[in-house]
Amino acid sequence: MSLKKTEKIWHNGKLINWDDASIHVLSHVVSYGSSVFEGIRCYETKQGPASFRMRDHMQRLLNSGRIYRMDNPYSADDLSAAAHDVVRANRMTSCYIRPIVLRGYGELGVNPLTSPVNVFIGVWPWGAYLGEDALEQGVRIKISSWRRNSQNSLPAAAKATGQYINSVLAKVESLKAGYDEAIMLNEAGFITDGSGENVYVVRDGVLTTPPISAGCLDGITRGSVMTIARDLGYEVREENLVRTDLYNADEVFFTGTAAEITPIREVDDRAVGEGHRGPITKELQGAFFAATKGETERYADWLTHVD
Ligand code: PMP
Repeated sequence: MSLKKTEKIWHNGKLINWDDASIHVLSHVVSYGSSVFEGIRCYETKQGPASFRMRDHMQRLLNSGRIYRMDNPYSADDLSAAAHDVVRANRMTSCYIRPIVLRGYGELGVNPLTSPVNVFIGVWPWGAYLGEDALEQGVRIKISSWRRNSQNSLPAAAKATGQYINSVLAKVESLKAGYDEAIMLNEAGFITDGSGENVYVVRDGVLTTPPISAGCLDGITRGSVMTIARDLGYEVREENLVRTDLYNADEVFFTGTAAEITPIREVDDRAVGEGHRGPITKELQGAFFAATKGETERYADWLTHVD
């Protein structure tokens, strides 16, 4: 899905033209991956566009920055307001929002502290991340031969650009082998997450997802699904999983801002359950998408209306 150009991008407090939102090739981030970012969805609702858990995403962005000592002058509220300015300036009804805090042009050595911090927020229309059919038909995944970054080399709590080169290794391996996506194990052999999604397993009506301590990102969709599932009466556990837990599950699915709730129909060429989207996954999707459209009073505070 190629990037669809919109008109305006926010840069350090100002709206600039899409084509002017460039950085110098010798910026620190290009050599050393020194940026932190977020991915947020803005959904169409009856009251106009509304972003999903915007403040939680912006708070995670600030936390990522803190880990890398990359502070910026904006608060989570400032950044949320800025993101909505960009949505309005581009007249989006629904879109994906990408805030990026990066180390720019200054000095070129590993020390990032002498390079200026720049904040950009771009938006563009984006459909289903793993393909239009994926939400219904499910995807085929491979357990990657690449291990997830360990917590004491690249902390999973930060959404830092440099660590995604690990996700890139896994993603490309899975695509080249004919799968849609990869799931990585940690060094101890426990399931962490996909290249950009958390994972849930359903067995005998109980949902299990790896604990954050396994080394997965503390996904905002993961948290939303946990709340929704518990509200629907399901037991949800955070426990370590091994790859055979995926093979023998009744249902497996991904959660993520981009992937939303995507069923996994095959793991390492083994059909999961019946080999198609399971009933609990479908029920959770229904409840999740109702929440994103502003149809569920209980989850109304997950949405912030742009206008
Ligand atoms: N794991 C990884 C590695 C990710 O990049 C993402 C996407 N941010 C997720 C999980 C899902 O997180 P969220 O639901 O907050 O988008």
